[in-house]
Amino acid sequence: IFSLIYNLILHINHYCVLGMICILDTGKELHMQIFNGKGVFGGIAIGKISLYRRKEKKIKRNHIDDIPAELDRFEEAKRTAIKQLQELYNKALAEVGEANAAIFEVHQMMLEDEDYLDSITNIIKTQSVNAEYAVGTTGDNFAQIFSSMEDAYMKERAADVKDISERILTVLSGGSQQVINTNEPVIVLADDLAPSETVQLDKDKVLAFVTQLGSTNSHTAILARTMNIPALISVNMELSEEYDGVLAVVDGYTGSIYVDPDEDTLTKMKKKQAEDLEKKALLEQLKGKENITLDGKKINIYANIGNSNDIANVLKNDAGGIGLFRSEFLYLEKSDYPTEEEQFSIYKTVAENMAGKKVIIRTLDIGADKQIDYFNLEHEDNPAMGYRAIRICLDRKELFKTQLRALYRASAYGKISIMFPMIISVTEVKEIKAIVEEVKAELKNQGIPYSDVELGIMIETPAAVMISDLLAKEVDFFSIGTNDLTQYALAIDRQNPRLDKIYDSHHKGILRMIKMVADNAHANGIWMGICGELAADLSLTETFLSMGIDELSVSPSLILGLRKKVRETNVDEVKTKILKDI
Ligand code: PEP
Ligand code: MG
Repeated sequence: IFSLIYNLILHINHYCVLGMICILDTGKELHMQIFNGKGVFGGIAIGKISLYRRKEKKIKRNHIDDIPAELDRFEEAKRTAIKQLQELYNKALAEVGEANAAIFEVHQMMLEDEDYLDSITNIIKTQSVNAEYAVGTTGDNFAQIFSSMEDAYMKERAADVKDISERILTVLSGGSQQVINTNEPVIVLADDLAPSETVQLDKDKVLAFVTQLGSTNSHTAILARTMNIPALISVNMELSEEYDGVLAVVDGYTGSIYVDPDEDTLTKMKKKQAEDLEKKALLEQLKGKENITLDGKKINIYANIGNSNDIANVLKNDAGGIGLFRSEFLYLEKSDYPTEEEQFSIYKTVAENMAGKKVIIRTLDIGADKQIDYFNLEHEDNPAMGYRAIRICLDRKELFKTQLRALYRASAYGKISIMFPMIISVTEVKEIKAIVEEVKAELKNQGIPYSDVELGIMIETPAAVMISDLLAKEVDFFSIGTNDLTQYALAIDRQNPRLDKIYDSHHKGILRMIKMVADNAHANGIWMGICGELAADLSLTETFLSMGIDELSVSPSLILGLRKKVRETNVDEVKTKILKDI
């Protein structure tokens, strides 16, 4: 099993549960019931529920006389299973992309694993038993070993081992894995769905997924997002037969499912659905289009996210990458420091889901308004100017190194860039780079793979703006944090509602700073962007384009609107006047 574990470590984090599917056909009258879960992909679906339950497979233990023939039978079944997986991989590759298809490659690899195969053939030989029994027993044994492991990634591999074993069992029994058995599109209600089950479903027949289990990063969720299907997970709903065939409404935005909706609810939800579709249709037209001005200037439009759950929206809105992943939310959501492993798994998932597009992850930026109990930070009179962000990281090097290790490890799975917040000096950047080198050296010594990572800094203090020519020589990119830059440049607490009226990001002081940073970046051959809220301000899009800003990173839902604005702008026409006025 150790070679299998090792191979899995090198492979991609995927989840699987298995089993065959059956549809029960009852359909009783109910009164409206509302169940809640977590929406992992927005949208409204209205249709009948189709209940899925796994058939219990009883494996018999039979005595076998002709051992070589039984071994051949197993070999043949294994070959068929591998062929099926190859076909599934190709199907998934075409439909949902490489990152999501990779699970089937992992399963093929597991099916060829020596330890796994040895265990099966040994049981057949030493116990003179049928292949089904040997496969079932090996699957159970291996799954148990995996699920008893501490590491979350390894724990989840238990389901994969079961999935591959189930596949061979299905082949041995002469069956094929079932697909949806209905003519009309349905809301699929299941305890959980394995990726292999999900991609085998006829997409035209699935209106939504509703599962009792599943995590936001499970493949069901990932595939649902990529397939553009509303999906709810962790729904507090029994898999009761009485729901099968009953009309329901799934609201992927609120995470609710209305079973047997009353007239009022149905009318309301139909309206919500129509509005949603209308909005989507309008924006859809911009998907796949370039962020290019009328006179041919291009700009990158990326997304800001707070955790990996946001990826659904990122993909839905066709972001060119992730311009700001506020990693502190991982810390904020927890009651204790997230481990290297936990962080690694999240960064890796994000990198994989973005499938080669740039993912800029900002290192921990706590302090000020983002306080975390377990950090035990002392009370400060002026926390916005206090012990926060990179200051904490440089002070608590181990904490910083844990995050950097997780980030570098994840870099082997996608295109990760790292960005450091609240920089005020070249000395800080040099110190950071020295720590980064230590981390890289450690990983190298341990034989842990990592890729080239762009290192950038947030420009969000006036000091950083003023020395941006010097800082540009130290890093690969800049991203301007206009939220903090405005508060520090104007001396206006961004948290204070009384000062909201004068918190003016359009202030010439701010615009000049942005221009200065852009000029210094470009003079030194690096790219620069804006990831503060101002990036999405459409009244400044022409200004940013005139300054030659390379990237704007905004909330996922604002991407297509911004793309529209960019495509309507003629920079040459407005540039001279705009720059003169700043
Ligand atoms: C900013 O300061 O503009 C920024 C993007 O970071 P945050 O809002 O997380 O401080
Ligand atoms: Mg900031």
